[in-house]
Amino acid sequence: MNDLILYQQYRPQKFTDLIARESVSKVLMNEILNKNIANAYIFFGNKGTGKTSIARIFSKAINCLDLEKNGDPCNKCVNCVAINDSNFMDLLEIDAASNRGIDDIRELKDKIQFAPVMGKYKIYIIDEVHMLTKDAFNALLKTLEEPPKNVVFILATTEINKVPETIISRCQRFDFLNASYQDLSDQLNKVIKLEKIKIDDSIKELIITVADGSFRDTMTNLQKVLAIYSENLTYKDVVTILNFPDIEFIKIIWKDLFEGNLDTILDNFEKNTINIISFIKNSLDFIKKVLVNRTLSKKYYDIDDEIFENISTQKILNIVNILIKTLDDIRVSSSDLVCLEISFIFMMQDLNIEYKAPVQNKSKSLETKIDLKKTVLITEDNILSVKLRNNWTEIIEKSKVFNHHMSGFLSKSAFSFDDKKLIIIVPFAFYRDMLIEVKSKEYLSSLIKEVIGDDFVLDCIVDKKVKPIVSVSQQKNVDEDDIKELFEIDS
Ligand SMILES: [Zn+2]
Repeated sequence: MNDLILYQQYRPQKFTDLIARESVSKVLMNEILNKNIANAYIFFGNKGTGKTSIARIFSKAINCLDLEKNGDPCNKCVNCVAINDSNFMDLLEIDAASNRGIDDIRELKDKIQFAPVMGKYKIYIIDEVHMLTKDAFNALLKTLEEPPKNVVFILATTEINKVPETIISRCQRFDFLNASYQDLSDQLNKVIKLEKIKIDDSIKELIITVADGSFRDTMTNLQKVLAIYSENLTYKDVVTILNFPDIEFIKIIWKDLFEGNLDTILDNFEKNTINIISFIKNSLDFIKKVLVNRTLSKKYYDIDDEIFENISTQKILNIVNILIKTLDDIRVSSSDLVCLEISFIFMMQDLNIEYKAPVQNKSKSLETKIDLKKTVLITEDNILSVKLRNNWTEIIEKSKVFNHHMSGFLSKSAFSFDDKKLIIIVPFAFYRDMLIEVKSKEYLSSLIKEVIGDDFVLDCIVDKKVKPIVSVSQQKNVDEDDIKELFEIDS
């Protein structure tokens, strides 16, 4: 098999190569043929729905030296070849989700006045544009208000509601729907044919199911399958390689949930990198069977439904509703697992299940890089930490305005000070990943400032054994013992 990533290898190179997306292609091809190019476009859709692929095809077409009659790029001229090889100096791709992205936007303002070097148009593709900071959006808006000649912006986002209206209104907008089962099946069959391999229909179905409407994930899944491909490839092999949650896994998770072992569940998901969407869909399928058996008062489906025995039908229906909503939330979220965790917390509340905190271990986790005891010696920090701790509940409550994930995370976290830094200690890596996103960080810093009046540089570390602060912070009077307890100092 070729070393090149399948998704890149089989990335459509012209509009007519695309599976689906006819409506977007048609409009863009017309604009190209009529030389009626807008200054800015915004592409909105889920991950892997073809936004970047179309942005690149469009970039080629408007710079192509030998455009085809229908508006497709030739893929042969110097400009097309340069773009295909990622060597085109007038095409700049910015990932707004990275820190680098924000610097790029600032630089962009200075460089943008220069004419294109290689082609007719200079193109800026800004991926995940909703991640830009307020300052970066302002900088971008200024540029869009007075667009330099021969510059085209293509903004791509999975969360259009987080992009300022002022920006959207200056762009031509295209919405990219999820690929249908048939679209993904067409794409998969095309590549399988070109790779000259044979794959069972049941396996193809699994690949498409796990991809959940994403062209890119379909190719990534196929790549994983090809990595273990042999004549004797079985369905079970593919279940394993795609981290597909089978019925045994599903039963373990629900059993743990009803016993309040949320941490065990999250560990299990992290360790097995389970596909969350498949987990939810398979759980819904299982729960449907439980409900049918219960309604018919007989074993219509031959399943082991003991786990749900003590849960009332109404409560099971609540679970179903929460799961369906989670699927929606996942489509616009950066972390599938976070969405699922929040839903689990809602379910536990609804079912009056008490959260069982993990057993505290005296020895510090290896991942804790700072010495918590050291910081206690600094008096100023003690005052600050008492202040912050007294207001922690308020901060958790207010952070819901940003999103429920943040407040959920903070309620299971602690903090410490290291030099001038305020360090949030979280139990899971994906909490940290979310909290250190530029926008989350900015929001949290300003919220803390608003509540306790002090400015902090924020950082975040993972400690699986972290003791959430929330229960102690609710006490009105904080004394020395609390501080000792907070920093786990033996008296
Ligand atoms: Zn060309």
